Amino acid sequence: MSGGGYTILGSGVAGLGAANYLSDQGIRARILDARPRPGGLTTSHDTVDGFNFDEGVHISFTTNERVKDLFAKGAQGAFETGKVYCNNYWRGHWIKHPAQVNLHGLPTDLVVACIRDFVAASANPSPEINNYEDWINAAFGETFAQTFPAVYTVKYHTTEAKNLTTDWLGPRLYRPKLDEMLHGALTQEPLDVFYVNEYRYPTHGGFESFLGHFLPKADIVCNHEVVGIDVAAKELTFANGKREAFGNLISSIPLPKLIPLIRGAPQDVRNAAQMLACSQAVVANIGINRPIDLKPQWSYFYDEDIPFARVSHRSNLSPNTVPEGCAAFQAEIYFSEKYRPLNDAPDAWIEPAIDGLIKAGLVESRDEIIHRSAMFLPFANIIFDHDRPKAIEIIHGYLNDVNIAYCGRFGDWGYIWTDQAFLSGERAAKVSMSRAVKIR
Ligand SMILES: Cc1cc2nc3c(=O)[nH]c(=O)nc-3n(C[C@H](O)[C@H](O)[C@H](O)COP(=O)(O)OP(=O)(O)OC[C@H]3O[C@@H](n4cnc5c(N)ncnc54)[C@H](O)[C@@H]3O)c2cc1C
Repeated sequence: MSGGGYTILGSGVAGLGAANYLSDQGIRARILDARPRPGGLTTSHDTVDGFNFDEGVHISFTTNERVKDLFAKGAQGAFETGKVYCNNYWRGHWIKHPAQVNLHGLPTDLVVACIRDFVAASANPSPEINNYEDWINAAFGETFAQTFPAVYTVKYHTTEAKNLTTDWLGPRLYRPKLDEMLHGALTQEPLDVFYVNEYRYPTHGGFESFLGHFLPKADIVCNHEVVGIDVAAKELTFANGKREAFGNLISSIPLPKLIPLIRGAPQDVRNAAQMLACSQAVVANIGINRPIDLKPQWSYFYDEDIPFARVSHRSNLSPNTVPEGCAAFQAEIYFSEKYRPLNDAPDAWIEPAIDGLIKAGLVESRDEIIHRSAMFLPFANIIFDHDRPKAIEIIHGYLNDVNIAYCGRFGDWGYIWTDQAFLSGERAAKVSMSRAVKIR
């Protein structure tokens, strides 16, 4: 194929965002993906026994009306909607999320210590914040910080809070007011201060259905893993031995994978790519032969002897994700090459996940389990450690120099959701078009 057009690497929602934007400009892009199906992390999988699983819990909580409409079009207007309700499990107690303003029902001594330390921390108007550990101690007080977010951080980000920066936080962790904390400690009446409010989820086909509108807008070629990029010759090489020319290149490939593929990438850029840390997830899919009567869409788990950090309740998203009269859970267990390498086959985590689900009372016994499987996500969540800011500056600077427009969760290397990944793809397409005009 001739290389005059636009080539997008990766058919996740970011790559599709880029393609959709180009399509709106009258340009049909070519998307290349290593996997057998388009969609990246937003792919949904049907099982032979009638379940449907996403690659970990995926719900749209975008507030961007344009993205909402585009996703809705993809699902042909058929989506479930509701108010987000999620909760936390800690040593036999279930408390509403966010835990810091819903302490009611926890042991009295713990509640007293949480409030006492919160008041003490609040007395310091300008605490010194050098890392995420400082931040949680200052925001919540030491007892709450060390009992909940510090433990969760190790489970979810695979490393201790002191190893993380604070530039990823945004509105994600709610900083309570004393009145709110007291209110949540004294009464069970739920407070709504969570950053996610309303959600949407396709009625049929899993999260992937939201992408339906974008798929016809580009030529998507799967089973094409890029193994070499020659920016001077403008040529791509694939694992299947094929080669093809490109004109303008947009990439959503994870940066630690992308940089080593680029012929002649300088050593400092290669070193920077090696510094980046990302979590990997084993997702244990567990189907049971009875319906559940639980309110949350998902739950967080703090106990160190339960391997998963988060569990989603599939049938609460759409009843069509499970066979009639059944339910399913997806338990996410996190690893990372840099901090907590996965040394077993993903399947080895299915039984420990079931033990955790039984301990928490979500599954009554192994007798009711009719489906068990595991997925492995090699790139899950960016780890915002102290190496990230400098490394990203070097890598993004280099990609700009060689005219590769980057996008998506793993191109921007940010804590971004599907809607933001889509918009990131659009931005990269704009950048690529503006450069194409300049070099003409
Ligand atoms: C467990 C989990 C739960 C999440 N839950 C939510 C949620 O509830 N709501 C929400 O909005 N967001 C959620 N997210 C975030 C969301 O998944 C991402 O923001 C979004 O899907 C990222 O899309 P992307 O296109 O940037 O990356 P990806 O979807 O990862 O796409 C990158 C693509 O590049 C391809 N690729 C990689 N290397 C090569 C190569 N060498 N050659 C060719 N192709 C290659 C991959 O195959 C992949 O298809 C969640 C993420 C995780 C991990």
